[in-house]
Amino acid sequence: MNIINTLPKSVANQIAAGEVIQRPSSIVKELIENSIDAKATIIKVIIKDAGKQSITVIDNGIGMSKVDAVNCFERHSTSKLSKAEDLFHVKTMGFRGEALASIAAVSEVILKTKKKIGKTGNQVTFKEGKVIKESDISFENGTSINAKNLFYNIPARRNFLKSNNVELRHIIDEFIRAAISHPKIKFILINEEAEMYNLDPTNLKRRIVSSFKKSYENNLITCNEKYGAISIVGYIGKPENSKRTRGEQFLFVNNRFIKNAYLNHAIKSSYEGLIEDKKFPFYALFIKINTDLVDINIHPTKTEIKFEDDKLIYNLVKSSIKKSLEKFNISPSINFDADVNFTKNINFDIKPVEKEEITESHSKKKKDWAKIFENVKVENSERFLFEETSSIENENDPVQFLENFIFKQVGEKLLIFNHKFCQQRILYEKYQNSNTNRYTNTQQNLFPLYIDFNGSDFKIIQDIFDDIKSIGFNIDYFGKNSIVINGIPSGLDDINEKEIIDGFIEEIKNNNSDLKSEKRDIILKSFSKKARIINKKNLSTIEMNLIIDRLFACKNPKYSPDGKQNFIELGIDKVENLF
Ligand code: ADP
Ligand code: MG
Repeated sequence: MNIINTLPKSVANQIAAGEVIQRPSSIVKELIENSIDAKATIIKVIIKDAGKQSITVIDNGIGMSKVDAVNCFERHSTSKLSKAEDLFHVKTMGFRGEALASIAAVSEVILKTKKKIGKTGNQVTFKEGKVIKESDISFENGTSINAKNLFYNIPARRNFLKSNNVELRHIIDEFIRAAISHPKIKFILINEEAEMYNLDPTNLKRRIVSSFKKSYENNLITCNEKYGAISIVGYIGKPENSKRTRGEQFLFVNNRFIKNAYLNHAIKSSYEGLIEDKKFPFYALFIKINTDLVDINIHPTKTEIKFEDDKLIYNLVKSSIKKSLEKFNISPSINFDADVNFTKNINFDIKPVEKEEITESHSKKKKDWAKIFENVKVENSERFLFEETSSIENENDPVQFLENFIFKQVGEKLLIFNHKFCQQRILYEKYQNSNTNRYTNTQQNLFPLYIDFNGSDFKIIQDIFDDIKSIGFNIDYFGKNSIVINGIPSGLDDINEKEIIDGFIEEIKNNNSDLKSEKRDIILKSFSKKARIINKKNLSTIEMNLIIDRLFACKNPKYSPDGKQNFIELGIDKVENLF
């Protein structure tokens, strides 16, 4: 007996619709995309009951003819593709010809539309898989699509919808994604008859500011990089304004919002050392790339994408963000608005700590960083870093508090440093650019130290051998699974080399990374946490000033390699408020 049937069209449509329309916001997304494709300059979205009861999207785009107004509800009917080859040159938001068919399979739809050349408009009511009413109407140029009673015919699905708050949040997310990727279009969102957004046509930066908060105006760093035919433009947020939630991160490929954990990682890792691990920076980045180098036909929602060479894109994204962050390096500008790179080009070489040198370094540089704070509002502040300075008023000696903290008054501010974190940052940056196979930073051991490993740990050691050397360890292979340490990094106080090397192995195992550059970074972080320039409990004034000096010679003095804050700042107002 044969047991295979072909499903009725209405059932097949419902199944297929489930992939495209998952919740009210999917309808908002698809309808807005259609309006964008129809070259609308104004798009208005009207929501009732978080979209569960009604969603209407009205545009002033090209409209549809009488016949198209009926045909558009057929599955796989589209004006945007005609042959398979077109799939590799998609320039529109839609191309699968599924959205309207899917929306109509799970809700009741009323379409009103008129083309510029048409005398009258057309209205089509679509329910339960068929046209139930068609009439001529008078209508403005453009299209209005109203979807009512979402999932009325699939109660199980309807029950799965979340609270109105959550569903509305999803709708706003889709709305904002469309709005910031099309700043030239006017966007309006009306929820329960109240206007939530009314965004006038503008440029990207203003659109971002009006979509979020006024304060974003001073929070955005421009990103504008071109690599051959690929460009990466947009805005990224300043590190200090990162948030605890991931929400405001937007990645667009050829103006289409996409979800891509791999590229998000590229961005996140460019911020490494600048923000805490659990915080997320803002970004709205637009990658433009030849349409034949990406496949967007991966998933019905069109938010997934496959690059022909995703490693290349990863590296390009990472390097362009790093560049932008570097260019606008705001690291030492505690609360200052100016986008000035204060420490750029200052490459204080961090040498081994010798007593005489501490004094020398201190007298030469101690005022420099203090000046940074004093003159931060002055244009071209770099000048002050090299100028012989007269003595600075209001500078007191630093004071140690408990074991880990240093208090230091600078001008009218009190800075509180966690010197362990500061030392980590100093060491981390010192070795970040150091060269493999050069022992300039090594001090020879009196007695060589031999360390044995088991087979798998030794494999890791082989992998990171050069990286360990680049920190200043003079090591060699010795016998089957062991190494000999002939020298250790100089300028460090009391280090336990075995513990440090074991730490490397442990961190590499925990991090499970294959990327060479990441392995090196893991090692540097591990090393900077285990080693110290100064490792004693009671610090002298000179030592404290040395740490502060060196910290401010770093590229990113604000955070430890793990993203912990190295110092906090208390201004007069804050201190006075304590009383
Ligand atoms: P797709 O967008 O993938 O082509 P849809 O189901 O979303 O598929 O829409 C089907 C067709 O209906 C579109 O190709 C377009 O020709 C037409 N259409 C849909 N919405 C609009 C609109 N707002 N204005 C003009 N035409 C529209
Ligand atoms: Mg569409």
